[in-house]
Amino acid sequence: MFEKVLIANRGEIALRILRACRELGVRTVVVHSTADEEAKYVKLADESVCIGPPPSAQSYLNVPAIISAAEVTDAEAIHPGYGFLSENANFAERVEKSGFVFIGPKPETIRLMGDKVSAKDAMKAAGVPCVPGSEGALPDDPKEIINIARTVGYPVIIKAAGGGGGRGMRVVHTEAALINAVNMTRTEAGAAFGNPVVYMEKFLENPRHIEIQVMADTFRNAVWLSERDCSMQRRHQKVIEEAPAPEINRRLITRIGDRCAEACRKIGYRGAGTFEFLYENDEFYFIEMNTRVQVEHPVTELVTGVDIVTAQIRVAAGEKLWFRQRDIEVRGHSIECRICAEDPFKFTPSPGKITNWHPPGGPGVRVDSHIYSGYTVPPHYDSMIGKLITYGDTRDQAIRRMRIALSEMMVDGIKTNIPLHQELMQDANFLKGGTSIHYLEEKLANRKG
Ligand code: ADP
Repeated sequence: MFEKVLIANRGEIALRILRACRELGVRTVVVHSTADEEAKYVKLADESVCIGPPPSAQSYLNVPAIISAAEVTDAEAIHPGYGFLSENANFAERVEKSGFVFIGPKPETIRLMGDKVSAKDAMKAAGVPCVPGSEGALPDDPKEIINIARTVGYPVIIKAAGGGGGRGMRVVHTEAALINAVNMTRTEAGAAFGNPVVYMEKFLENPRHIEIQVMADTFRNAVWLSERDCSMQRRHQKVIEEAPAPEINRRLITRIGDRCAEACRKIGYRGAGTFEFLYENDEFYFIEMNTRVQVEHPVTELVTGVDIVTAQIRVAAGEKLWFRQRDIEVRGHSIECRICAEDPFKFTPSPGKITNWHPPGGPGVRVDSHIYSGYTVPPHYDSMIGKLITYGDTRDQAIRRMRIALSEMMVDGIKTNIPLHQELMQDANFLKGGTSIHYLEEKLANRKG
């Protein structure tokens, strides 16, 4: 095991990684911007290094500053968390070339999966079903593009190979609009991601977002750790996640999970990862792979009993996976609500000082958050201030516990989206389960208030 790990992230995930390190008896270094000097996990860490001013570009994305922090503190490995540099292949490469262990997949795997065209090709070759569409990148010839769209069938979606975070996509309903849409997406993608390559997929009208969590070691052992349903989204951002996914045949899930684990073995995947799928009419369609720990990992931890973050660290330190596929059993149900510092109706960010904080508790309740009474939510970063996760023997029990936990949770001084979660925990369609990725947007459009 490592003696010392550097945590290159902030907020709740920095605290989550810190806790995992402490459990493993690993000493910790936390890097932080000047805006996060007072954070709880900075005080709890064995060491901390300030790496720059509040803007992420000068701190949490500042590669030389992070590498020197690892050098001066003699850290052996770097955990990138999620967001920031976690899926940056060049960063992973710099980390390894500087003699540290990157807690994540190999740089070339990150690169392969970071380009959605090469990721889809690799997945197809590994037997993972993908959304029907163009064979790789779209050609330049408009006639050929029109023919591809005819074969795929309208509506289609034009997506940037280098896209991410729900950006660089355009839905096209008619042939008349096609070429213009392709050209606009190309131009935007070139400007935003430095890569003008685009591809085409069939646009699925009412899919659900279902993802498979995997864990692999450096000896080509790979196991899938059940699925999550993350269909409750606003602007392609997940709001509520749960495991297992309601109303899906277990045989279908098992088949797709086994394919994902097999794909990991084929590509020599290492560490934690997530295969994201759209699910419609009993079919799964791969859309992308995330090569890092995800925000919603706790729901999987609660239903499988596997600690994903300590597992990441253990396999990065060279341990063989200590469980096999047949050891993984899904028990009960878990739901996560992302708690954000934002207006629950207008969704504008609401940073500022938290004057009073009362976390909920009781059986089946987990709070992953770095906030405290007197903590100031800085305006520079993502608005998520924590996650409330509940567990129950049944989905119904997890929901009832969530309602109670939300009613106990008090965050004074700033606005949060707790009222939205309370509304959703009473929503008839959510209670039934299996809503599509468009449901929340449609509900919000019809919301009075
Ligand atoms: P990003 O990396 O930007 O998150 P994804 O490929 O994961 O991009 O797609 C983000 C979201 O866009 C999906 O969760 C889904 O809501 C929508 N989407 C992407 N591809 C399709 C498709 N073929 N049909 C319908 N919706 C899609």
